[in-house]
Amino acid sequence: MGPVETQKELSVYESMAARFDVAARKLGLDDGLYKYLRTPNREIIVHIPVVMDTGQLEVFDAFRVQHSIARGPSKGGIRYSPDVTLDEIRGLAAEMTWKCAVVNIPFGGAKGGIICDPHKLSQGELERITRRYTAEILDYIGPERDVPAPDVNTNEQVMAWIMDTYSMHVRHTVTASVTGKPLDLGGSRGRREATGRGCLVACDEALRRFARERASTRVIVQGFGNVGSQAVRLMHEAGYKIVGVADVEGGVYNPRGLDIPALFEHAGEAKTVAGFAGGDAIGSREILEQDCEVLLPAATESVITSQNASRIKARILVEGANSPTTPPADEILFEHGVFVVPDILANAGGVTVSYFEWVQDRQGYFWPEADVNARLKHILVNAFNDVVGYGEKHNVNNRIAAYMLAIDRVAFTTKLRGIYA
Ligand code: NAD
Repeated sequence: MGPVETQKELSVYESMAARFDVAARKLGLDDGLYKYLRTPNREIIVHIPVVMDTGQLEVFDAFRVQHSIARGPSKGGIRYSPDVTLDEIRGLAAEMTWKCAVVNIPFGGAKGGIICDPHKLSQGELERITRRYTAEILDYIGPERDVPAPDVNTNEQVMAWIMDTYSMHVRHTVTASVTGKPLDLGGSRGRREATGRGCLVACDEALRRFARERASTRVIVQGFGNVGSQAVRLMHEAGYKIVGVADVEGGVYNPRGLDIPALFEHAGEAKTVAGFAGGDAIGSREILEQDCEVLLPAATESVITSQNASRIKARILVEGANSPTTPPADEILFEHGVFVVPDILANAGGVTVSYFEWVQDRQGYFWPEADVNARLKHILVNAFNDVVGYGEKHNVNNRIAAYMLAIDRVAFTTKLRGIYA
């Protein structure tokens, strides 16, 4: 048993900052650029008044952090949760900058959040909160400025309200103002599956390096939401052997392989994978430590820590979630020879297809799903090879390689543009 995790180990912001520091040092980034790239460009705090269904007036605290616009408009999700903090949003905004740079798409990073519990709000209240939040940050967003997307507890409907509010203010329809919209409102084909599909592509590339076959590769997925469930479905269809799946309610493990169509049927009815009869019941956290070749955390942050990293049996870690591994855990995994496909590469399929959505909206010309998937694969395979190649060249692990590559790209454009004064 390792030492107890500290608040610092579990903080998304601290994790991002620690990795940034290591990568910047290895890159020999000069002091000025170090300070500039470590700090967000702009932090917006708004307090949004909303009339609740009871007639009572309530005020919600909300944020939008824009970390960088060096390579293009900033891009990043908006989350609704009682646990949102400015620090977390700050860390995630910076991670978006590095993620967009790793896959080499022309965006900087941003993130937004509203402190609220969407499960306790009516649809009407959610809509009013969303619209007022959009109105409050309106001057700072838009297709050329900052393009929001869904994140934890926000969805296509929320994006549709943001797009409509923005459009009402500028007096014409601007579908490119947000991504992750419904297909009938300028959304992209393949966006819903994009993050899970990206995880599949990244995993395939890792397998190729180790000359492994899909059919003999056992996979465990933690999380069965958008990312996890799509990854499970696509990896099963591709021939991987899914042996364990868990969500917040609990999980199921079967070393011989789970019956995935039956699991989806169960989850459709029970609204959880817990209780599925096709395997042994197992806890949401314990599932991470079971026998497998590939572990795919796709639930939430800081689940692989100094406490449990040494008990991870997987040889390949594909990070579907944002920031699932803490920096002390990174060290342990590295010592144990685990091949890590870091979050800013493994889950970049979502933002890549968001980029395609923005391009399609601006062109008013929509691509068939096969084109979206082929272009996504092309971008992710290149990014995978860039990161792994960079790591080998500089003798660093994949995570630090991804950060170094990203910081190098953002620093390069920053220097090219110069500092406006
Ligand atoms: P989601 O809300 O659709 O699903 C989350 C899943 O995780 C649910 O099945 C939930 O039950 C499970 N979960 C939550 N806490 C858990 C816990 N403690 N233990 C086990 N399971 C738990 O969210 P999502 O959109 O699938 O996102 C999952 C992760 O992937 C997040 O970290 C998110 O930031 C990241 N991500 C999402 C996208 C995207 O396109 N949706 C893109 C990039 C990164």
